[in-house]
Amino acid sequence: MSIVVVVIAAVATGAFLLLGNHGMRSRGPSPSTIVVLDAGHGGRDPGAVYGDVHEADLNLAVMKQVAEFLDTDPRIGVHMTRTLDISVSLEDRIGLANDSDAALYLSIQSNASTVSDASGIETLVSDQVAQDAAAWQWAEILQDAVTNATGARDRGVRSQDLYLHRAEMPAALIEIGFLSNRAEREKLLDPTYQNTIAKAIYNGIVTYLTFSSPNEFADKF
Ligand SMILES: [Zn+2]
Repeated sequence: MSIVVVVIAAVATGAFLLLGNHGMRSRGPSPSTIVVLDAGHGGRDPGAVYGDVHEADLNLAVMKQVAEFLDTDPRIGVHMTRTLDISVSLEDRIGLANDSDAALYLSIQSNASTVSDASGIETLVSDQVAQDAAAWQWAEILQDAVTNATGARDRGVRSQDLYLHRAEMPAALIEIGFLSNRAEREKLLDPTYQNTIAKAIYNGIVTYLTFSSPNEFADKF
């Protein structure tokens, strides 16, 4: 996996240098592979709150950085469930993904625990998907990409009763760290660390898409 990630990172960097600022590039036909990004919570629901830190804002900041990486990749189109601090129902979040025939769905969230030293990254899938379903492969690839890039504690992939079961494509929810852990919260608020997470998520998306549909996707390099 690590060799694939390195190659992809090199290609992605090259593409970025060639295309420059995404407002300047001219795109060919619209990409056939759609990824739906979700920033968890928002609006009336701030998610976890620690002082003036709202989970919804952190989720949105990281999601926007992932979208910027995806936007430099002409093979992938990105749809976002929200780009502002607004309320969006769980049904509408999954509905957007189903209606846009997305290849992948990812919800970006931040964790909280009453155990103040709990830390690390975990990825969740619906407990209604089979153990050999694509959602698990997607989640495992993503979890590896983000824990390798950040060095954060790897809490693994697990299933939970989640709204993701309505998704018609592989769907996962990543918890990028614990806002309840003071040291991890400070890292999560650092834009450089956010960008490390975002780039790793982007690399995980490309790795999964290349792995799951090599003919349609990898050939487009
Ligand atoms: Zn959350």
